[in-house]
Amino acid sequence: MSDLIPGREIARQCQAQGNDSGDVVALPARQTQLGNGLMIYRALPLVGLQLIGPWCFLDHFGPLDVRPGAGLRVGPHPHIGLQTVTWLLTGELLHRDSLGMTQRILPGQLNLMTSGNGIAHSEESPADHAGRLHGVQLWVALPEDERLGEPRFDHYPELPLIDRSALRINLLAGESMGLQSPARVFSPLVGLDIELVDTGRHEIDLNPDYEHGLLVLEGRVAMADHQMDIGTLFYLPVGRSRLELDNAAPARALLIGGPPFPDTILMWWNLVARTPAEITAARNDWEQGRRFGTVTGYDGERIAAPRFDYRLKS
Ligand code: MN
Repeated sequence: MSDLIPGREIARQCQAQGNDSGDVVALPARQTQLGNGLMIYRALPLVGLQLIGPWCFLDHFGPLDVRPGAGLRVGPHPHIGLQTVTWLLTGELLHRDSLGMTQRILPGQLNLMTSGNGIAHSEESPADHAGRLHGVQLWVALPEDERLGEPRFDHYPELPLIDRSALRINLLAGESMGLQSPARVFSPLVGLDIELVDTGRHEIDLNPDYEHGLLVLEGRVAMADHQMDIGTLFYLPVGRSRLELDNAAPARALLIGGPPFPDTILMWWNLVARTPAEITAARNDWEQGRRFGTVTGYDGERIAAPRFDYRLKS
C-alpha cells in the first residue's frame, strides 16, 4: 500500500445528510495481492474511508487451500504508530518479531502487536500447516499519547465469548454487551467476530457514539434492504444503537467500530504517522537498519521499503 488515500468523505457525507441511523454505505473492498501472490480483500482503507473509529486497515484473506510448503509468506517489515490484530477462522500462522517473540497463532486466539515507535515482524504459514487458511488482519491507529511509545507483543489464547446459541460472538477487542476483551488497546473501540449459527433474525447492540463497519467473512447476511456478501464493507455512521441481521444459512461477519478518531493520520506502506517527515524518517531508518531491530528465524529476505513519494491519490 504505497499510495496515500484521503479519507473521511464518506463519514462527512453521512453527517451532512443528517444521517442518524438509517443509512448504510456499501463499499466494495479492493482485491489485491500479498507479497507472494495470495489474493485478498482489502476492506480498509478505501477511497473516502480511511478509518472506522481507530481501525485503519482490514485485510480478509482466504479461505484458501494452502499447498504444503506454500502459504502466506510476508518477510520482515516495519510498523510504526499502530497495533496489528490478527484473527484466524481456519489454519495457522507463525509470527516472529524484533522483540524476539515467536508465536504460533490458531483460530480463536488473538495476536496483538503494538508497534509504538517501531517494531518489525514476519508472518508466515508454518511449514507443517494444516492446508487451509482463513482470517483477517486489522490495524488500529495509536492515539497521540501512545504512538511514540515502546513496542510490545501480546497473545491472547482465549477471548470472551457471548454465546446465545443462535449467535456466538467472539469479543476480539473493546467492550460490547457488558463484556470487556482483555486485549490491550488504547482507544475506545469494538471488534466482534459474529457467528450466525442459526438462521433467522439476530439483534446486536451497538454503541451509538461509534461508527461501525461490517464485513461478511462466510456466507451471506441481510441487513434491512442490503444483501451483504463477502468482498463488500458496509459502513454504518454514528448514531445507530442496534444491528439487525438476517441470514438464510449459517454465516459469519466481522464488526468493527469506535468513535471517529480524533487525529488526522498519514498512512503509507506499513507506517501510520501524522506528517510526511515522520514517514520519511521511519522509512529511512528501516532501509538503513536502525530503530526497528532484527527479526530472527525467518527463512527469507526482509522487505525493502518502496520509494516514498508524497502525494495524495485523488
Ligand atoms: Mn505487518
